[in-house]
Amino acid sequence: MKRLICIISISFIAFSSCVNNGEVRRDRVKRPKLVVGLVVDQMRWDYLYRFYDLYGNDGFKRLLKDGFNCQNTMVNYLPANTAPGHSCIYTGSVPSIHGIAGNNWIDENGKKWYCVDDPNVKSVLGISSMSPSTLLTTTITDELRLATNFQSRVFGVAIKDRGSILPSGHLGNAAYFYNDSLGVFTTTTYYAKPFQNPDWLQAFNKRKVVDSLTKLNWKPLLAQKEYNQSVDYSAYYGKICKAEKVASFPHMVDTFNDANRFSALKTMPAGNTYTLMMAKACRDGEKLGQGDNTDFLAISLSSTDYAGHTYAPNSMEVEDMYLRLDREIAELLKYLDETEGRNNYLLFLTADHAAAHNAIFLKDRDVPAEVVGFSGKVPDLNYYLKEQLHLDSFTRYVQDIINYQVFLDNNLIKSTGADRQHIKDLVMDWLKTQSGIAYVMDMENISKSPVPEPIRSMAINGYNRRRSGCIQYVMDPGWYDFGNANGITLTGTTHGSWNPYDTHIPLLWYGWGVPKGETHTVVNMTDISATLAAMLHIQMPNGCIGKPIVELIK
Ligand SMILES: [Zn+2]
Repeated sequence: MKRLICIISISFIAFSSCVNNGEVRRDRVKRPKLVVGLVVDQMRWDYLYRFYDLYGNDGFKRLLKDGFNCQNTMVNYLPANTAPGHSCIYTGSVPSIHGIAGNNWIDENGKKWYCVDDPNVKSVLGISSMSPSTLLTTTITDELRLATNFQSRVFGVAIKDRGSILPSGHLGNAAYFYNDSLGVFTTTTYYAKPFQNPDWLQAFNKRKVVDSLTKLNWKPLLAQKEYNQSVDYSAYYGKICKAEKVASFPHMVDTFNDANRFSALKTMPAGNTYTLMMAKACRDGEKLGQGDNTDFLAISLSSTDYAGHTYAPNSMEVEDMYLRLDREIAELLKYLDETEGRNNYLLFLTADHAAAHNAIFLKDRDVPAEVVGFSGKVPDLNYYLKEQLHLDSFTRYVQDIINYQVFLDNNLIKSTGADRQHIKDLVMDWLKTQSGIAYVMDMENISKSPVPEPIRSMAINGYNRRRSGCIQYVMDPGWYDFGNANGITLTGTTHGSWNPYDTHIPLLWYGWGVPKGETHTVVNMTDISATLAAMLHIQMPNGCIGKPIVELIK
């Protein structure tokens, strides 16, 4: 009897230990209140250090000193462009698998695609039809929604539609992007049901922030003598928009008409200010981080890419852009401290790709480099084929050249009964005669192409059979393709090749669960989502090939 009383009393104690006021207390999965993804479009890794001396203590330096720095983070596929980059960060996968083979591509049936085209949806304001439907895999943000039975909420914010839509995944609550015809943020009917923006966004748009920001123009933040990382020679630099007369500071955009002013904003530091104001309005409007489940705010800063393309890495504009961004990051961290609480949010900062130095800038200093434009050479290539194949008339067997890839018109080849392999061989022969081409790969027969690592793996990772050109070429270091059918652009710069200047990106982790430290071990862009999955205790995205960065997860 005594033993029975003892068992009953022990059971009661054990039971009462997990009951409190009638509620069962359970140990919950430990996750942060909010994850903030911050992609700085076109940020080179070396900008962390090139401009370090002029950064304040609370922006990049706070992330570097109190966070975890993956010093050697590499893009591990071709082409190093915006849409594949955002897709890779958020899927842990590569174009061969996730399907985002470029910002633009031509599919196997000859149809041209913009990466987030979707004829089945409409823009809430404007005319564009966009969604993540071309993305073939889930994202880490999708997996967070799935892991919490859709109770976690996911929002994307960026000037560029693709910088917002792809990170938000298929299950995102909304992806907001800039409509430069109207000077407002908006979304598409993929997310907005009913057919309107939420009240908080309508109120935000009514503030006409773009007007107040562009009235300030773009003048240097510091005295000119402070800018010791740039050369003041406007021959290397383009104009902020077609309305500008002189391609140098100060950029007096307040005199432009609305269309030019709304467009110019994208290339100004004010574009980052506007994006971060919108991100805060989204957090406040949706009360992110205030529920029982982890929310995710995927921000992408597109203006760094617009400015990079226009001005190139050694311009005063790019230096000024990053000095101002440093101060914006300090403000963002302060805001997150106040709203979410220090260590309640997990933030990572990375880039979708980096960028080359302006080729003329390098040539002027005797470094091998050149700008070419292969899409403008498509007619030449088709004339070459006409001669070699002894055709009676001009035939467009080569449909286009995009992403350093040649797209053949497969339907035309089939209908004319031409020998496709022979055409491919002739195209490769022609490419090999062109200046600056280091390698030409037949992607359908890669084993016959002697190309060194990592270029070979990057080409394979980037090759999507249904969306990539069947021939991939690689330029000599310093050479890039920056042209269209109308000619080449000598000012500014671009990206898209395998070289470290295009593929070495920053990766900083900060906040919840992040130890102070750094690693010089090479990690790949695909490891970002794998690491997030491990930290959040959720499944990796369904096409993820990355590995968790174990030095970060202790
Ligand atoms: Zn770009």
